[in-house]
Amino acid sequence: MRFCYNINMTNEYAIGVDIGGTNIRAALINIKGEVRSKIKELTGNNPFAVLHKVTDPLYGQYSEKICGIGIAVAGVIDQDAGVVLNSPNISTLTGVNLKSVIRDRYNAPVIVENDANTAAYGEKFIGAGRNFKNFVVLTLGTGIGGGIIINNRLLPVAAEVGHMSINTNGRSCACGNKGCLESYASATAITGNAISMIEKGSCSILKNLYGGNFYRINTEDIYRVALEGDPLSKTVLKSGGKSLGIGIANLINTLSPDAIILTGGLLGSWNIYIDSAIQEASKRAFKELYQRVSIVPSSLGDDAGIVGAAMLVFEKCQKI
Ligand SMILES: [Zn+2]
Repeated sequence: MRFCYNINMTNEYAIGVDIGGTNIRAALINIKGEVRSKIKELTGNNPFAVLHKVTDPLYGQYSEKICGIGIAVAGVIDQDAGVVLNSPNISTLTGVNLKSVIRDRYNAPVIVENDANTAAYGEKFIGAGRNFKNFVVLTLGTGIGGGIIINNRLLPVAAEVGHMSINTNGRSCACGNKGCLESYASATAITGNAISMIEKGSCSILKNLYGGNFYRINTEDIYRVALEGDPLSKTVLKSGGKSLGIGIANLINTLSPDAIILTGGLLGSWNIYIDSAIQEASKRAFKELYQRVSIVPSSLGDDAGIVGAAMLVFEKCQKI
């Protein structure tokens, strides 16, 4: 791995930004991957305004010390051009040349990368992936993303593993395909399943939450009442986990990784959702490959994406 250890000490920081469907976060990060200052705002309907809102204060205060800005975005990215080719969950960014927008504003080097890819790079650099040479990071939240490290390097591919087909004539996905993993195993899918079952008359404690407005439930609510013994909640978490396990088995059989590192909000439901995924993956993957893979949680959590984005700036700054 090549990093810019010869960076001038006056440029010892990079800004890492993570543009997600729910939040936009920015942080000042040093070359060791340490987060020095962090700002978070809701994404809302105008991600550009929010992006500037989180980045302006950091850049304004530390501009003399910043060697570049790394942007992580949920979606398919043309890394060379810095263009968001398709962002199903943040549609206003689709077609936007983010590299040019940010570079023009700050007159600084900019890299744009898929958020799960930057999360994988963050985990490789200072997280749960430090001791693995080949691994896949899966981000399990509103959607499902993937980032792949092979021979200690971030694989420069889309790695949109959430959009692998697991059901030939399945549910419609925001990407335009049918039967995508994300449509069965994401937080959106699990919550949607629970709501749909309640609408059809199934009994559940969830029905009484939020004063009876069960449309507001989230996966944390589902996990909590599952632990209280609610059968519907257990069913939807196990079902989502089973679908995730199919995706994990496909990844194990294709890439034979040393590890699958899991991150995102759904990790809070580990002992139902993830256990179900592990059980399914163990049944479906080649035994020889399954036995040598570790399935572990992220150690950086939400910071993985911004740390990885900043680290990519340090790595690539000599080329930009
Ligand atoms: Zn899809």
